[in-house]
Amino acid sequence: MSEQLPLSAPSFTEAEAQAVADVVRSGWLTMGPRTAQFEQEFSQFVGSKHGVMASSCTAALHLAFAALDLGPGDEVIVPSLTFVATANAVAYTGATPVFADIVSPEVPLIDPEAVRALIGPRTKAICAVHYAGYVADMKALRQLSDRYDLALIEDAAHSPGARSEEGPAGSLGDISCFSFFSNKNLVTGEGGMCTSDDEELVRRMRLLRAHGMTATSWDRERGHASGYDVIERGYNYRPSELEAALGLVQLGKLPAMLARRRELVGMYRAGLERTPEAGFVPFTAAQDEMSSCHIMPLVTPSNEERDRLRAAAADAGIQTSVHYQPVHSFKVFQPQAPLPITEDYAAREVTLPLYPAMADSDVDRVLQLFAMVNA
Ligand SMILES: *Cc1c(COP(=O)(O)O)cnc(C)c1O
Repeated sequence: MSEQLPLSAPSFTEAEAQAVADVVRSGWLTMGPRTAQFEQEFSQFVGSKHGVMASSCTAALHLAFAALDLGPGDEVIVPSLTFVATANAVAYTGATPVFADIVSPEVPLIDPEAVRALIGPRTKAICAVHYAGYVADMKALRQLSDRYDLALIEDAAHSPGARSEEGPAGSLGDISCFSFFSNKNLVTGEGGMCTSDDEELVRRMRLLRAHGMTATSWDRERGHASGYDVIERGYNYRPSELEAALGLVQLGKLPAMLARRRELVGMYRAGLERTPEAGFVPFTAAQDEMSSCHIMPLVTPSNEERDRLRAAAADAGIQTSVHYQPVHSFKVFQPQAPLPITEDYAAREVTLPLYPAMADSDVDRVLQLFAMVNA
Protein backbone atom coordinates (compact mmCIF):
# COMPACT_ATOMS: atom_id res chain seq x y z
CA MET A 1 0.00 0.00 0.00
CA SER A 2 1.54 3.29 -1.07
CA GLU A 3 1.59 6.34 1.13
CA GLN A 4 -1.66 8.30 1.31
CA LEU A 5 -1.79 11.54 -0.63
CA PRO A 6 -4.34 13.86 1.02
CA LEU A 7 -6.52 16.34 -0.82
CA SER A 8 -5.15 19.20 1.27
CA ALA A 9 -3.01 19.83 4.32
CA PRO A 10 -2.14 22.97 6.28
CA SER A 11 1.44 24.26 6.16
CA PHE A 12 2.36 24.61 9.82
CA THR A 13 5.81 24.88 11.33
CA GLU A 14 7.21 25.63 14.77
CA ALA A 15 6.24 29.30 14.24
CA GLU A 16 2.51 28.50 14.51
CA ALA A 17 3.07 26.32 17.60
CA GLN A 18 5.07 29.14 19.20
CA ALA A 19 2.42 31.74 18.38
CA VAL A 20 -0.30 29.64 20.01
CA ALA A 21 1.90 28.96 23.06
CA ASP A 22 2.48 32.71 23.42
CA VAL A 23 -1.26 33.32 23.52
CA VAL A 24 -1.76 30.63 26.14
CA ARG A 25 1.01 32.15 28.28
CA SER A 26 -0.45 35.65 27.86
CA GLY A 27 -3.58 34.56 29.75
CA TRP A 28 -5.98 36.31 27.31
CA LEU A 29 -7.58 33.84 24.91
CA THR A 30 -10.69 35.56 23.56
CA MET A 31 -10.95 38.36 21.01
CA GLY A 32 -8.34 41.01 21.88
CA PRO A 33 -5.16 42.66 20.61
CA ARG A 34 -4.02 39.88 18.27
CA THR A 35 -7.46 39.81 16.68
CA ALA A 36 -7.25 43.57 16.10
CA GLN A 37 -3.78 43.22 14.59
CA PHE A 38 -4.81 40.36 12.32
CA GLU A 39 -7.89 42.30 11.18
CA GLN A 40 -5.68 45.25 10.34
CA GLU A 41 -2.97 43.26 8.51
CA PHE A 42 -5.34 40.95 6.65
CA SER A 43 -7.65 43.73 5.43
CA GLN A 44 -4.60 45.66 4.24
CA PHE A 45 -3.37 42.54 2.40
CA VAL A 46 -6.66 42.24 0.49
CA GLY A 47 -6.89 45.95 -0.24
CA SER A 48 -9.75 46.78 2.09
CA LYS A 49 -10.01 49.44 4.82
CA HIS A 50 -11.46 47.31 7.63
CA GLY A 51 -11.52 43.73 8.84
CA VAL A 52 -13.98 42.08 11.20
CA MET A 53 -12.73 38.65 12.23
CA ALA A 54 -15.38 36.08 13.10
CA SER A 55 -15.52 32.51 14.37
CA SER A 56 -15.96 31.16 10.81
CA CYS A 57 -16.69 32.29 7.27
CA THR A 58 -20.24 31.06 7.76
CA ALA A 59 -20.54 33.46 10.70
CA ALA A 60 -18.89 36.20 8.61
CA LEU A 61 -21.44 35.66 5.81
CA HIS A 62 -24.29 35.77 8.32
CA LEU A 63 -22.89 39.01 9.79
CA ALA A 64 -22.68 40.48 6.29
CA PHE A 65 -26.27 39.60 5.37
CA ALA A 66 -27.55 40.68 8.80
CA ALA A 67 -25.72 44.02 8.55
CA LEU A 68 -27.52 44.57 5.23
CA ASP A 69 -30.83 44.16 7.12
CA LEU A 70 -31.99 41.24 5.00
CA GLY A 71 -35.11 39.47 6.18
CA PRO A 72 -38.17 37.48 5.14
CA GLY A 73 -39.35 38.38 1.64
CA ASP A 74 -35.88 39.44 0.49
CA GLU A 75 -33.89 37.48 -2.08
CA VAL A 76 -30.15 37.09 -2.56
CA ILE A 77 -28.79 35.69 -5.81
CA VAL A 78 -26.02 33.14 -5.19
CA PRO A 79 -24.33 30.46 -7.31
CA SER A 80 -25.38 26.87 -6.70
CA LEU A 81 -21.79 25.76 -7.35
CA THR A 82 -20.58 26.62 -3.85
CA PHE A 83 -20.40 25.27 -0.33
CA VAL A 84 -23.82 25.13 1.32
CA ALA A 85 -22.81 27.83 3.84
CA THR A 86 -23.22 30.58 1.20
CA ALA A 87 -26.93 29.80 0.89
CA ASN A 88 -27.47 28.84 4.53
CA ALA A 89 -26.13 32.21 5.69
CA VAL A 90 -28.72 33.96 3.50
CA ALA A 91 -31.45 31.74 4.95
CA TYR A 92 -30.38 32.49 8.58
CA THR A 93 -31.71 36.03 8.08
CA GLY A 94 -35.06 34.78 6.82
CA ALA A 95 -34.20 35.85 3.26
CA THR A 96 -34.32 33.40 0.35
CA PRO A 97 -31.27 32.30 -1.66
CA VAL A 98 -32.00 32.28 -5.40
CA PHE A 99 -29.59 30.12 -7.39
CA ALA A 100 -27.87 31.28 -10.57
CA ASP A 101 -26.10 29.06 -13.10
CA ILE A 102 -22.40 29.24 -13.97
CA VAL A 103 -20.98 30.62 -17.22
CA SER A 104 -19.69 27.30 -18.64
CA PRO A 105 -17.68 24.22 -17.61
CA GLU A 106 -14.57 26.13 -18.70
CA VAL A 107 -15.57 29.15 -16.56
CA PRO A 108 -17.43 27.67 -13.58
CA LEU A 109 -18.25 31.05 -12.03
CA ILE A 110 -21.60 32.74 -11.41
CA ASP A 111 -22.91 34.02 -14.77
CA PRO A 112 -23.84 37.74 -14.76
CA GLU A 113 -26.37 37.06 -17.54
CA ALA A 114 -28.06 34.39 -15.41
CA VAL A 115 -28.01 36.81 -12.47
CA ARG A 116 -29.64 39.55 -14.54
CA ALA A 117 -32.47 37.19 -15.49
CA LEU A 118 -33.17 36.45 -11.80
CA ILE A 119 -33.31 40.06 -10.58
CA GLY A 120 -36.79 41.02 -9.45
CA PRO A 121 -38.53 43.35 -6.98
CA ARG A 122 -37.48 41.21 -3.99
CA THR A 123 -33.80 41.01 -4.92
CA LYS A 124 -31.61 42.80 -2.36
CA ALA A 125 -28.13 41.45 -2.97
CA ILE A 126 -25.85 39.37 -5.16
CA CYS A 127 -23.26 37.10 -3.54
CA ALA A 128 -20.47 35.98 -5.87
CA VAL A 129 -18.20 33.04 -5.06
CA HIS A 130 -14.65 33.06 -6.41
CA TYR A 131 -14.75 29.33 -7.12
CA ALA A 132 -11.38 27.55 -6.76
CA GLY A 133 -9.75 30.96 -6.25
CA TYR A 134 -10.69 32.50 -9.62
CA VAL A 135 -12.40 35.86 -9.27
CA ALA A 136 -15.93 36.07 -10.65
CA ASP A 137 -16.83 38.76 -13.20
CA MET A 138 -17.13 41.50 -10.57
CA LYS A 139 -17.18 44.25 -13.19
CA ALA A 140 -20.39 42.95 -14.75
CA LEU A 141 -21.87 42.12 -11.33
CA ARG A 142 -21.05 45.63 -10.08
CA GLN A 143 -22.81 47.12 -13.09
CA LEU A 144 -25.89 45.08 -12.21
CA SER A 145 -25.74 45.94 -8.52
CA ASP A 146 -25.39 49.65 -9.34
CA ARG A 147 -28.19 49.58 -11.87
CA TYR A 148 -30.67 47.74 -9.63
CA ASP A 149 -29.44 49.19 -6.31
CA LEU A 150 -28.33 45.85 -4.84
CA ALA A 151 -25.60 45.03 -2.36
CA LEU A 152 -22.68 43.05 -3.79
CA ILE A 153 -21.05 40.50 -1.49
CA GLU A 154 -17.96 38.40 -2.15
CA ASP A 155 -17.85 34.91 -0.69
CA ALA A 156 -14.07 34.96 -0.85
CA ALA A 157 -13.58 31.76 1.19
CA HIS A 158 -11.35 30.35 -1.57
CA SER A 159 -9.52 33.46 -2.49
CA PRO A 160 -7.16 35.35 -0.19
CA GLY A 161 -4.49 36.67 -2.58
CA ALA A 162 -6.62 36.25 -5.73
CA ARG A 163 -7.21 39.22 -7.97
CA SER A 164 -8.90 40.41 -11.14
CA GLU A 165 -8.32 43.41 -13.42
CA GLU A 166 -10.49 45.38 -10.97
CA GLY A 167 -8.35 44.58 -7.94
CA PRO A 168 -7.83 41.97 -5.22
CA ALA A 169 -10.60 39.69 -3.93
CA GLY A 170 -11.66 41.30 -0.68
CA SER A 171 -11.85 44.78 -2.18
CA LEU A 172 -14.47 44.17 -4.88
CA GLY A 173 -17.69 43.82 -2.87
CA ASP A 174 -19.53 45.95 -0.35
CA ILE A 175 -18.51 43.22 2.09
CA SER A 176 -16.17 40.28 1.43
CA CYS A 177 -16.05 37.12 3.55
CA PHE A 178 -13.02 34.87 3.98
CA SER A 179 -12.58 31.43 5.58
CA PHE A 180 -9.62 30.20 7.60
CA PHE A 181 -10.96 26.66 8.03
CA SER A 182 -8.41 23.84 8.09
CA ASN A 183 -8.57 23.06 4.37
CA LYS A 184 -8.44 26.67 3.13
CA ASN A 185 -5.42 28.65 1.87
CA LEU A 186 -4.77 30.45 5.18
CA VAL A 187 -5.49 28.19 8.15
CA THR A 188 -6.47 29.05 11.71
CA GLY A 189 -8.54 25.89 12.35
CA GLU A 190 -11.87 27.64 12.53
CA GLY A 191 -12.14 31.32 11.69
CA GLY A 192 -13.26 33.83 9.12
CA MET A 193 -13.21 37.52 8.30
CA CYS A 194 -15.38 40.20 6.76
CA THR A 195 -13.58 43.01 4.96
CA SER A 196 -15.26 46.26 3.92
CA ASP A 197 -14.60 49.92 3.23
CA ASP A 198 -18.03 50.89 4.58
CA GLU A 199 -17.71 52.26 8.14
CA GLU A 200 -21.40 51.83 8.92
CA LEU A 201 -21.53 48.18 7.80
CA VAL A 202 -18.33 47.51 9.77
CA ARG A 203 -19.78 49.10 12.91
CA ARG A 204 -22.91 47.00 12.53
CA MET A 205 -20.98 43.75 11.99
CA ARG A 206 -18.79 44.41 15.06
CA LEU A 207 -21.91 44.96 17.13
CA LEU A 208 -23.69 41.85 15.86
CA ARG A 209 -20.54 39.74 16.34
CA ALA A 210 -20.64 40.26 20.11
CA HIS A 211 -24.28 40.02 21.25
CA GLY A 212 -25.21 43.55 20.14
CA MET A 213 -23.33 44.84 23.20
CA THR A 214 -21.95 48.38 23.18
CA ALA A 215 -18.69 47.27 24.86
CA THR A 216 -16.68 44.04 24.62
CA SER A 217 -14.99 42.27 27.52
CA TRP A 218 -11.64 43.42 26.09
CA ASP A 219 -12.85 47.05 26.35
CA ARG A 220 -13.84 46.40 29.96
CA GLU A 221 -10.57 44.59 30.72
CA ARG A 222 -8.69 47.67 29.56
CA GLY A 223 -10.90 49.92 31.70
CA HIS A 224 -12.42 51.54 28.61
CA ALA A 225 -15.95 50.74 29.75
CA SER A 226 -17.65 49.63 32.92
CA GLY A 227 -21.20 48.90 31.82
CA TYR A 228 -22.83 48.19 28.49
CA ASP A 229 -26.16 48.25 26.75
CA VAL A 230 -27.52 45.73 24.25
CA ILE A 231 -28.86 47.65 21.29
CA GLU A 232 -29.46 44.83 18.80
CA ARG A 233 -30.16 41.10 19.00
CA GLY A 234 -26.65 39.95 18.18
CA TYR A 235 -24.71 36.71 18.19
CA ASN A 236 -21.55 35.25 19.64
CA TYR A 237 -19.38 35.07 16.54
CA ARG A 238 -16.17 36.14 18.30
CA PRO A 239 -12.91 34.57 17.17
CA SER A 240 -10.27 33.55 19.70
CA GLU A 241 -6.79 35.02 20.09
CA LEU A 242 -5.41 31.55 19.35
CA GLU A 243 -6.90 31.74 15.86
CA ALA A 244 -5.78 35.33 15.33
CA ALA A 245 -2.22 34.41 16.36
CA LEU A 246 -2.22 31.55 13.82
CA GLY A 247 -3.63 33.93 11.24
CA LEU A 248 -0.80 36.42 11.72
CA VAL A 249 1.86 33.74 11.17
CA GLN A 250 -0.01 32.24 8.20
CA LEU A 251 -0.50 35.65 6.59
CA GLY A 252 3.27 36.14 6.58
CA LYS A 253 3.65 32.86 4.69
CA LEU A 254 0.71 33.38 2.35
CA PRO A 255 2.65 34.87 -0.61
CA ALA A 256 5.08 31.91 -0.62
CA MET A 257 2.22 29.41 -0.20
CA LEU A 258 0.36 31.06 -3.08
CA ALA A 259 3.41 30.91 -5.32
CA ARG A 260 3.78 27.19 -4.65
CA ARG A 261 0.08 26.55 -5.28
CA ARG A 262 0.36 28.31 -8.65
CA GLU A 263 3.46 26.30 -9.51
CA LEU A 264 1.66 23.04 -8.73
CA VAL A 265 -1.42 24.05 -10.74
CA GLY A 266 0.92 24.89 -13.65
CA MET A 267 2.40 21.38 -13.45
CA TYR A 268 -1.04 19.77 -13.31
CA ARG A 269 -2.29 21.88 -16.22
CA ALA A 270 0.72 21.07 -18.39
CA GLY A 271 0.52 17.38 -17.50
CA LEU A 272 -3.20 17.09 -18.10
CA GLU A 273 -2.92 18.85 -21.45
CA ARG A 274 -0.91 15.80 -22.56
CA THR A 275 -3.91 13.51 -21.83
CA PRO A 276 -6.87 15.45 -23.24
CA GLU A 277 -8.96 12.27 -23.23
CA ALA A 278 -8.94 12.48 -19.40
CA GLY A 279 -10.71 15.83 -19.48
CA PHE A 280 -9.77 19.48 -19.14
CA VAL A 281 -8.76 21.92 -16.43
CA PRO A 282 -11.16 24.89 -16.18
CA PHE A 283 -9.92 28.47 -16.64
CA THR A 284 -6.62 29.26 -18.38
CA ALA A 285 -2.93 29.33 -17.52
CA ALA A 286 -3.08 33.14 -17.63
CA GLN A 287 -5.94 33.10 -15.12
CA ASP A 288 -3.96 30.77 -12.83
CA GLU A 289 -1.53 33.65 -12.31
CA MET A 290 -4.31 35.78 -10.80
CA SER A 291 -5.95 32.94 -8.88
CA SER A 292 -5.33 31.88 -5.30
CA CYS A 293 -5.36 28.30 -6.67
CA HIS A 294 -7.40 26.97 -3.77
CA ILE A 295 -8.44 23.66 -5.33
CA MET A 296 -7.43 21.70 -8.44
CA PRO A 297 -10.56 20.86 -10.47
CA LEU A 298 -10.57 18.57 -13.50
CA VAL A 299 -13.63 18.17 -15.73
CA THR A 300 -13.83 14.61 -17.06
CA PRO A 301 -15.79 13.62 -20.20
CA SER A 302 -18.64 11.94 -18.30
CA ASN A 303 -20.06 11.19 -14.88
CA GLU A 304 -19.09 7.51 -15.28
CA GLU A 305 -15.50 8.38 -16.12
CA ARG A 306 -15.35 10.77 -13.16
CA ASP A 307 -16.48 8.05 -10.78
CA ARG A 308 -14.10 5.52 -12.35
CA LEU A 309 -11.23 7.94 -11.91
CA ARG A 310 -12.17 8.61 -8.29
CA ALA A 311 -12.27 4.87 -7.57
CA ALA A 312 -8.85 4.37 -9.19
CA ALA A 313 -7.46 7.27 -7.17
CA ALA A 314 -8.83 5.83 -3.93
CA ASP A 315 -7.21 2.47 -4.76
CA ALA A 316 -3.91 4.25 -5.32
CA GLY A 317 -4.15 6.04 -1.95
CA ILE A 318 -4.91 9.39 -3.55
CA GLN A 319 -7.70 11.39 -1.96
CA THR A 320 -10.07 13.22 -4.30
CA SER A 321 -13.26 15.18 -3.83
CA VAL A 322 -16.08 16.86 -5.74
CA HIS A 323 -16.60 20.63 -5.61
CA TYR A 324 -19.49 20.79 -5.31
CA GLN A 325 -22.73 18.90 -5.06
CA PRO A 326 -24.95 21.71 -6.36
CA VAL A 327 -26.59 23.48 -3.45
CA HIS A 328 -29.92 23.84 -5.29
CA SER A 329 -30.14 20.01 -5.37
CA PHE A 330 -30.13 19.65 -1.56
CA LYS A 331 -33.40 18.66 0.07
CA VAL A 332 -33.49 21.66 2.36
CA PHE A 333 -33.67 24.04 -0.63
CA GLN A 334 -36.32 22.12 -2.64
CA PRO A 335 -38.09 22.78 -4.91
CA GLN A 336 -35.75 24.53 -7.38
CA ALA A 337 -35.59 25.12 -11.11
CA PRO A 338 -32.85 23.10 -12.88
CA LEU A 339 -29.44 24.69 -13.53
CA PRO A 340 -28.14 22.65 -16.49
CA ILE A 341 -24.58 23.96 -16.65
CA THR A 342 -23.98 23.63 -12.90
CA GLU A 343 -25.48 20.12 -12.89
CA ASP A 344 -23.38 18.99 -15.84
CA TYR A 345 -20.22 20.44 -14.29
CA ALA A 346 -20.85 18.87 -10.90
CA ALA A 347 -21.48 15.45 -12.48
CA ARG A 348 -18.12 15.48 -14.26
CA GLU A 349 -15.81 17.37 -11.88
CA VAL A 350 -13.16 15.77 -9.70
CA THR A 351 -10.90 17.71 -7.34
CA LEU A 352 -7.28 16.56 -7.20
CA PRO A 353 -4.82 16.98 -4.29
CA LEU A 354 -3.37 20.50 -3.96
CA TYR A 355 -1.52 22.07 -1.04
CA PRO A 356 1.77 23.98 -0.71
CA ALA A 357 3.78 21.13 0.84
CA MET A 358 3.02 18.79 -2.07
CA ALA A 359 6.13 17.58 -3.88
CA ASP A 360 6.52 17.70 -7.65
CA SER A 361 6.62 13.90 -7.49
CA ASP A 362 3.16 13.91 -5.85
CA VAL A 363 1.78 15.68 -8.93
CA ASP A 364 3.49 13.07 -11.14
CA ARG A 365 1.91 10.33 -9.05
CA VAL A 366 -1.57 11.80 -9.68
CA LEU A 367 -0.83 12.31 -13.38
CA GLN A 368 0.18 8.64 -13.68
CA LEU A 369 -3.33 7.75 -12.65
CA PHE A 370 -4.59 9.13 -15.97
CA ALA A 371 -2.15 6.99 -17.88
CA MET A 372 -3.43 3.94 -15.96
CA VAL A 373 -7.13 4.74 -16.23
CA ASN A 374 -6.85 5.42 -19.94
CA ALA A 375 -4.69 2.38 -20.68
C1 LIG B 1 -15.39 26.88 3.36
C2 LIG B 1 -16.42 27.73 2.72
C3 LIG B 1 -17.36 28.47 3.46
C4 LIG B 1 -17.51 28.31 4.95
O1 LIG B 1 -16.36 28.56 5.66
P1 LIG B 1 -16.27 28.17 7.21
O2 LIG B 1 -15.13 29.01 7.68
O3 LIG B 1 -15.98 26.71 7.28
O4 LIG B 1 -17.55 28.54 7.86
C5 LIG B 1 -18.21 29.31 2.79
N1 LIG B 1 -18.17 29.44 1.45
C6 LIG B 1 -17.30 28.73 0.70
C7 LIG B 1 -17.30 28.94 -0.78
C8 LIG B 1 -16.40 27.85 1.30
O5 LIG B 1 -15.56 27.14 0.56
